[in-house]
Amino acid sequence: ESISDLLDRLCEIVPDYPQPGISFKDLTPVFADPVGLRRMVDELIAPFEGQFDIVAGLEARGFVLAAAAAYASGKGMLTIRKAGKLPREVYRDEYTLEYGTSCLEVHKDEIAPGTRVLILDDVLATGGTVGSAVRLLQQTGARIAGVGVVLELDGLGGRAKLPGQQVVSLQVVH
Ligand code: IMP
Repeated sequence: ESISDLLDRLCEIVPDYPQPGISFKDLTPVFADPVGLRRMVDELIAPFEGQFDIVAGLEARGFVLAAAAAYASGKGMLTIRKAGKLPREVYRDEYTLEYGTSCLEVHKDEIAPGTRVLILDDVLATGGTVGSAVRLLQQTGARIAGVGVVLELDGLGGRAKLPGQQVVSLQVVH
């Protein structure tokens, strides 16, 4: 089974969630499936083999992928969190949402300059979130090895917000 067929089979589409008009792609059934989880993680790591030293996960669903990917490749994992969740000194990046702003943070002492970071998240939509994670990690002096997402929502311009980055998506959805 191709990864695309697997995602078609297991990913649930939820109409009008979290708001009317939004068609939410729910990947939790893929996480819950033993083959689904392994395939997603293996296929997110493969294109970046030998190119990263640590895996960064974006709160919250990105944590699932990043922890598994880090474990499978014998690396550590960096937790990139929403504002106010990390207890020690952080770097911070603010970004604009459709309504208002949001903020990502990472602990200052968990990443040495020059470290090659693979960023993982579940879905790339407008690119606001991953774009913020890239800027955040650039503040640390890290190098971005690339970005891996399971689903890329077509037509929202996510990829265009990540110029110069190697972006791998397992499936493009409309
Ligand atoms: P962006 O910042 O617009 O690219 O949105 C990406 C962020 O919103 C990611 O952290 C996703 O987890 C979440 N997201 C946006 N759309 C969906 C969806 O359809 N399913 C699951 N998560 C989504």
